[in-house]
Amino acid sequence: MKTQADIIIVGCGVAGLFCALNLPRDKRILMITKDAEDHSDSFLAQGGICVERNEDDYDCFFEDTMKAGHYENDPDSVDIMIRSSREIIDDLLRYGVEFEQRDGELLYTREGAHRVNRILFHKDITGKEITRKLLAAVKALPNVTLREYCSMVDIMEEDNTCYGIVMRNEEGKIETVTAAYTVWACGGIGGLFENSTNFPHLTGDALAISLNHNIELENPDYIQIHPTTLYSKQPGRRFLISESVRGEGAILLNKNKERFVNELLPRDVVTKEILKQMRKDGTSHVWLSMAPIPTKEILEHFPNIYARCMEEGYDPTKECIPVVPSQHYFMGGVRVDLDSQTTMAQLYAIGETSCNGVHGANRLASNSLLESLVFAKRAAAAMADQFEEAQESLDAALLADQVHPSLPIYLYENKEKLAASYKEKILQEIERMKKEHEQSDHHEVKRRSFNYTGA
Ligand SMILES: Cc1cc2nc3c(=O)[nH]c(=O)nc-3n(C[C@H](O)[C@H](O)[C@H](O)COP(=O)(O)OP(=O)(O)OC[C@H]3O[C@@H](n4cnc5c(N)ncnc54)[C@H](O)[C@@H]3O)c2cc1C
Repeated sequence: MKTQADIIIVGCGVAGLFCALNLPRDKRILMITKDAEDHSDSFLAQGGICVERNEDDYDCFFEDTMKAGHYENDPDSVDIMIRSSREIIDDLLRYGVEFEQRDGELLYTREGAHRVNRILFHKDITGKEITRKLLAAVKALPNVTLREYCSMVDIMEEDNTCYGIVMRNEEGKIETVTAAYTVWACGGIGGLFENSTNFPHLTGDALAISLNHNIELENPDYIQIHPTTLYSKQPGRRFLISESVRGEGAILLNKNKERFVNELLPRDVVTKEILKQMRKDGTSHVWLSMAPIPTKEILEHFPNIYARCMEEGYDPTKECIPVVPSQHYFMGGVRVDLDSQTTMAQLYAIGETSCNGVHGANRLASNSLLESLVFAKRAAAAMADQFEEAQESLDAALLADQVHPSLPIYLYENKEKLAASYKEKILQEIERMKKEHEQSDHHEVKRRSFNYTGA
């Protein structure tokens, strides 16, 4: 089966949706998602979205992001993200996103490693509020078709130029989609790990495809572990206890209910201290006490977290809850420039799948929704600018009969085998990079000089 689109966007989390919303209305856009439309990590984001509060906040926001990222961030990407933040929030407000307000003024909360309150939030379901509004706006667009339960299994490439994708469609059949531009907005890699806060179908497929097609990756071993997820003996996705709970005053306790760490240190530091404490105590979790937070505040600001703890048998207004670190976020990814262009022509990557260097070695809390939106909008502008050339290149390739899947169809059809081989490929690459980084004294930040100049 063969389909044509002007632009194919793989993934309908905030990055994919915002890209579609910012593309010209005369382009036929096909969006696909591997699972249900509301099964993306974007729907799970709890804490909020960062914004530069005012011009005086620039230096502080910049330094907080760089410090959390161990100064391995790309300063140009960080600069763009911060300077675009107010415009992005204005866009969201126009799409009807509601952030907490008091007396008509936006309210700001704080999370670990932020020196000031600069995070906008909607109760503890900020991601759901933003993503459902963007999804509704996309569904109202006549030029966008969104297909659920379609999984990209490969791209179609010739001479380092991408001409579309191969997917397993909603009927389990292999279908090719040719397009002038392909956009990867495939989210993170949590599905590769036993303990993760991510949806299990987020398995980093774009990374495996990159490795097969010599598309550059950047720091695939930079994986963030979230210090506080609700400890449970049940298998499945781990429930996040947002950092803003600690930002509002919750404290971490060891088995004797004694405090052992400054809870507002960067995530990687808090994670290390928790794991150290668990080893020392011989326990499978530590405790989080919300006692310093007034009950009214817990119920109003964190209703989702409160309800989930109650479901698990803990009343956080009266007792400590058990927490454990879990895989949470992917700072590395498909290497992109400041417009989200990958090292392959006519292929863009945005959101958690991509690495533009904003987060360095460790993401500052609540920077990822913002980063996804800022760079999705830039990708859309870049594609709109160069669309005619991309279309000409596709037309020429089609005329020369150069647009084909790279593997025989039967290899794509074996779902389990393909998934297992992709997983092995990615995990091997993560290990290889980890060793390379361990052997080098400092991590060379190659991407600063990366500027796409065409295939
Ligand atoms: C529990 C939790 C809490 C978080 N809290 C915050 C927060 O408070 N603030 C913040 O800034 N960030 C937070 N984050 C991180 C943030 O939510 C994500 O980084 C961000 O939403 C990623 O958006 P995305 O569009 O890149 O990917 P996602 O929203 O994950 O979307 C990925 C999409 O790609 C699709 N896909 C994947 N592979 C394929 C394939 N092969 N074929 C077809 N489709 C595919 C998926 O089905 C999905 O539609 C949190 C994350 C989690 C898990």
